[in-house]
Amino acid sequence: MLPNHGRVNIELINTGSELLLGRVLNTHQQWICRRLADLGYVVTRQVAVPDTARDIQQAVREALERAQLVIVTGGLGPTSDDITRDLIAQLLGKKLVRDPGIMAHIEGYFAARQRPMPANNDVQAMVPEGALVLPNPNGTAPGLAMRVGAVGKVPQWLILLPGPPRELRPLFDADVVPLLQREFPLAAAFVCRTFRSAGLGESAVQEKIKAPLEALVAAGLEVGYCARVGQVDVRLTASGAQAASLVQQGGSVVRGLLSANIYGLDDEVMEAVVVGLLTGRHQTLALAESCTGGGLANRITHVPGASAVFLGGLVTYSNAAKQAFAGVRAETLGVHGPVSEAVAREMASGTREKFGADYALAVTGIAGPGGGTPEIPVGTVFIALADASGTVVERRSNVYERALFKELTAQQALEILRRRLISA
Ligand code: ATP
Ligand code: MG
Repeated sequence: MLPNHGRVNIELINTGSELLLGRVLNTHQQWICRRLADLGYVVTRQVAVPDTARDIQQAVREALERAQLVIVTGGLGPTSDDITRDLIAQLLGKKLVRDPGIMAHIEGYFAARQRPMPANNDVQAMVPEGALVLPNPNGTAPGLAMRVGAVGKVPQWLILLPGPPRELRPLFDADVVPLLQREFPLAAAFVCRTFRSAGLGESAVQEKIKAPLEALVAAGLEVGYCARVGQVDVRLTASGAQAASLVQQGGSVVRGLLSANIYGLDDEVMEAVVVGLLTGRHQTLALAESCTGGGLANRITHVPGASAVFLGGLVTYSNAAKQAFAGVRAETLGVHGPVSEAVAREMASGTREKFGADYALAVTGIAGPGGGTPEIPVGTVFIALADASGTVVERRSNVYERALFKELTAQQALEILRRRLISA
């Protein structure tokens, strides 16, 4: 039996002076904790330390006194600040040995890119004796996993992962997760499901579902809320023999009460849902964006297969561009101004016509901080949707700083289109 009430004790150490200088956001902390939590493992402690020998060794030594699994990120590269591998070998009293497989991988990596291999890269082929090599197809430094001891029958593992997120994430999924499931099988089943909703605030969501879920909560269901830009996630989790049934029953309640507000499950994103709906209907979309500056087109084109439904997008930022490309009349701009219901309407209908699309979305607004008036204050945005039945325009007030304003506006526009698609 594990200490910690049957739970594996996991500690995460993120190395990197840049994290403590506020130069790089520690996304590993969130990403790894989230991945583990989804699998039913909870990180018990996390710490970030600078790239100094004393700090890294101290953090690892302390973590190994408490945890069955210690994960260390960063510092496996070839530069002088990449010292994790050496320090760990020292701490564990292990020799570093050259791994010919890694050396061949690194040589192949540079050859495939037609770049000469810098001499200092060979340090990445050194591994503490006995370590398992976790291959890194997206970079040169592999991850390393070491069984460092055992507490009774429970093994103790130390895992080192490369710093760059695009290397760490695939490696984690491919090699760390199976190792974890093999070495630390969960004592009880764990089920987690997230329902993603749009169009309701966090309190409104909670008000609708809290009381109806109470009986299931008493039986062991856990409910979590997470408010994000333009959406609220409801997370249902349970463990034990009843886990699947509790989450399934809770899910029915949530679906019944939030109905059309739920746009997706787990990691589904709004743009993927919209592209999926359009694909299923063999329909097409065009965009005319002012204040989102192409942000909507960017999100749509993130979705694999978007080319089947997305015809194109305009970024008509100036009045002249709105006229020349989106078909807005000079008179409409003159009378109503560029941030108006009338202009949004003409942007959408004009763009739909020019592209020959089934749907066109248009957005025009004032991100601020300057440029507001009493009638059209900063944060005002008009979102128009044109289809064969005509054009509708919604006015929203998104009073946030520019980046958030753009993200929220794009999310609202996608949600307006999604609503139309599910009701059509
Ligand atoms: P490399 O071979 O690229 O040097 P490495 O394993 O030595 O890899 P680091 O040097 O620590 O890793 O970090 C490489 C890059 O990865 C950093 O520039 C940083 O942008 C990113 N990175 C490192 N740690 C984190 C983290 N905790 N969260 C987000 N990004 C990180
Ligand atoms: Mg490095």
